[in-house]
Amino acid sequence: MSVLIIVESENKLLKRNAAEVASYGVAFAEKLNISCAALAFHATNANELGQYGVAKVIHVSNVSTHFDANAYANAIHGFASQNNVTHIIMGSSADAKFIAPLLAAKLNAGYAPNVIALPDELSPITVKRTAFTNKAFVHTQLLTACTVIGVGNNAFGVIENPVTCTVKEVDAENSDSNLEQVAIEKTTGKATIADADVVVSGGRGLKGPENWHLIEELAEVLDAATACSKPVSDMGWRSHDEHVGQTGKPVSTNLYIAIGISGAIQHLAGVNSSKVKVVINNDPDAPFFKAADYGVVGDAFEVVPKLTQKLKAFKALA
Ligand SMILES: Cc1cc2nc3c(=O)[nH]c(=O)nc-3n(C[C@H](O)[C@H](O)[C@H](O)COP(=O)(O)OP(=O)(O)OC[C@H]3O[C@@H](n4cnc5c(N)ncnc54)[C@H](O)[C@@H]3O)c2cc1C
Repeated sequence: MSVLIIVESENKLLKRNAAEVASYGVAFAEKLNISCAALAFHATNANELGQYGVAKVIHVSNVSTHFDANAYANAIHGFASQNNVTHIIMGSSADAKFIAPLLAAKLNAGYAPNVIALPDELSPITVKRTAFTNKAFVHTQLLTACTVIGVGNNAFGVIENPVTCTVKEVDAENSDSNLEQVAIEKTTGKATIADADVVVSGGRGLKGPENWHLIEELAEVLDAATACSKPVSDMGWRSHDEHVGQTGKPVSTNLYIAIGISGAIQHLAGVNSSKVKVVINNDPDAPFFKAADYGVVGDAFEVVPKLTQKLKAFKALA
């Protein structure tokens, strides 16, 4: 029995969620008193997982650098079945949610995504996870000998636990796929909503696309991704890939700043698992204030430029 932690990478570096997935995997293995290792694809800094208690990393480079769920699931399956892996720990990103069901089917494993805590019970493994766009918790029993667990974004946290880490280069024996990537076109070179630590989001209160420089300037100083409410993308002020909420992208960042957004239930459903929510709105009765950690009642056209200036000055001092 052993635990295999699958970490994601992009542009040859570990993704932000790798630290949290590794922290969970190491704690999970300790709880079960079994060994663990991590499996990384195309990550030149894979040894940094040692910072989170991972002593052994298997590094695979002979799989397509373009994301291909079939190829990655085949490669992980090959490694897991040859190495007596019984529990696979992954993230809950869109990519992980493509790979995990394929992998679970190959391994005849139970799969639980959006897991937010270590197992409550070990026999059978019972995990707490979010459901219905974070409106409910579910305690799921995994009745199979082999399990695949998807750790929710920003749910478990990062545990610093430095150990010496060795990285072993291994060739995947089977990374077959029935797909061929012809071309990839990225929509933006900026931080993506899925990977950003901070998201700055604008709503109809911004009045029009010509005012979006306020959102972009604040996002730039915070190294944040930009997002918007549904009507904003419906009206074509911003592209649909920025639409967040129940019918848009989910946001689970450390900091979510909502500017001129009322806080309708469908918007909150997709963003309320973010750790800290800051709301700027000129209506003190806007529903978003009830969900906010910090709120500014004021005109976005006055508050946001001042906030951006203050942050710029603060950064210049640091
Ligand atoms: C089935 C369904 C699914 C939906 N899915 C989503 C979804 O995924 N995501 C989503 O966002 N919505 C979704 N909606 C729409 C949702 O119900 C709301 O209509 C929408 O979120 C409102 O967007 P908004 O807050 O930008 O606009 P508004 O509701 O118009 O709110 C604008 C806010 O800006 C404030 N404001 C105005 N001027 C200023 C100013 N100068 N300074 C500061 N604040 C100001 C106002 O006080 C107000 O609170 C969905 C609706 C349905 C029916």
